[in-house]
Amino acid sequence: MAKFIFVTGGVVSSLGKGINASSIGRLLKNHGLKVFMQKFDPYINVDPGNMSPLQHGEVFVTDDGAETDLDLGHYERFIDENLSRYSSVTTGKVYLKVIDKERKGEYGGKTVQVVPHITDTIKEYCYKAAENSQADIVITEIGGTVGDIEGLPFLEAIRQMRRDVGYNNTLYVHNTLVPYISASQELKTKPTQHSVKELQSLGISPDIIILRSERKIPQKDKEKIALFCNVNIEAVIEATDCKYLYEIPLNLAKQHIDDYIIHHFGLSTNPLDMSEWIKMVENIKSAKKETLVTVVGKYPLQDAYLSINEALKHAGWQYKTNVKIEYIDAETVDEENVNLLLGKADGILVPGGFGERAAIGKMEAIRYARENKIPYFGICFGMQLSLIEYARNVLGYKEAGSTEFCENCKMPIIDLKFSKRSMENHMRLGLYDCHLMPGTKIYDVYQTSDIKERHRHRFEFNNNYRKIYENTDVVFSGINLENDIVETIELKNHPWFVACQYHPEFLSRPNKPHPLFLGFMNAVIAEREKKNI
Ligand code: GLN
Repeated sequence: MAKFIFVTGGVVSSLGKGINASSIGRLLKNHGLKVFMQKFDPYINVDPGNMSPLQHGEVFVTDDGAETDLDLGHYERFIDENLSRYSSVTTGKVYLKVIDKERKGEYGGKTVQVVPHITDTIKEYCYKAAENSQADIVITEIGGTVGDIEGLPFLEAIRQMRRDVGYNNTLYVHNTLVPYISASQELKTKPTQHSVKELQSLGISPDIIILRSERKIPQKDKEKIALFCNVNIEAVIEATDCKYLYEIPLNLAKQHIDDYIIHHFGLSTNPLDMSEWIKMVENIKSAKKETLVTVVGKYPLQDAYLSINEALKHAGWQYKTNVKIEYIDAETVDEENVNLLLGKADGILVPGGFGERAAIGKMEAIRYARENKIPYFGICFGMQLSLIEYARNVLGYKEAGSTEFCENCKMPIIDLKFSKRSMENHMRLGLYDCHLMPGTKIYDVYQTSDIKERHRHRFEFNNNYRKIYENTDVVFSGINLENDIVETIELKNHPWFVACQYHPEFLSRPNKPHPLFLGFMNAVIAEREKKNI
């Protein structure tokens, strides 16, 4: 039977509890245990797919096509397990399920209530996650902060879990902040004590407390927290600010959090082997070279493109290079200022996006990369716009466009309707096959002809227009054979101009950079070196 770890947070948000949860996952995995992770989000949106990346960061997509919170990206990058729709649960999703059942009469006329109907449904997600993943350990992070009204049903559900499956099969990890008051030069433990009290008032006594702090926490403060919060001193763990994200599992391992958890669960496991991870962190620390990649997107902020951000860094580290990533709001890019804005870039990336806003600016950036032979990587919308830009500016079809942003487009080279499919207005989500043509750049980086990648889009290249690209530099290098959908393109006579309809960033891992990002970064570094000569 699976063991359940529940991760909560108190005092303030943004404590890094998702990273701590994933780091625990990585440690347990490296003890030889099978780990699965899930996130319970207290907001009412049914899934994060429709939420603004500006407020909520990127939408992360799983293999099975669930549109999820960006924290799942951290989970996958840390534990290197592909998660599923059972990993992303929101209040909206839970209520929808319960209300659906009620409408179908499945509650037989009973009064439907938060306890037990909502809480039972929440618990079902824990059990389903364990059953479907066959994991030894299921780690569940509860979004938000203890004390929020929205989080109460989730906390009640995880409280009940200990009653249901037993003390030795459940473990509560609570994350708090230990602030430093510079005027009195003191670290303060009181917010932690209050937060734990709040959790206890809901019937949950944490087994482990992780303390986020800017400074090292003296032993006497840890002892105080252990005493007041009723935990063992070995279970008071500090998480001081850390320069390298991927170092966090190692910091937790130094404090033997993994041994504490394994002992609590009464498991016998292999000894912890972090040798590969340590090597990876050393590699990150030894990166000395620098490059600049400019991401020309709709939202000039890192969280909206978090997986791309990480994937670029993963690939850079492989070449001992730190990638500086600059985000430019595509709406500000035009013919006049493009040289000023992109002149310094060693590589240009146009990420996924929706709607008309900023499409013109993105195409300007694409034209600049194409004409100046700067390495270019187009993802999803970035591929669609590359084809439109080429049709307009190289082939002279000024009316070429996408029906996504011009409804009566005279030349819809990107469109919804295709001869072989009738999936109109449906999002193509999750893993799909792609067949790569030998002899292309993309084949070279993957070193295989059949791949599977994650998708999230409605529009596609319209095959009726394939002929306009005949005898040009455009190569349709990857195709989904089942539905004859163009998946990847590239340009001949350019150092690196590659674009794909799918989202490769979701499959990059710090210890396994994605081949496409490696290929791009290789070209980016060559471009940088050219400038230095
Ligand atoms: N808006 C485009 C589509 O729906 C591209 C989506 C994306 O870039 N993720 O097809």
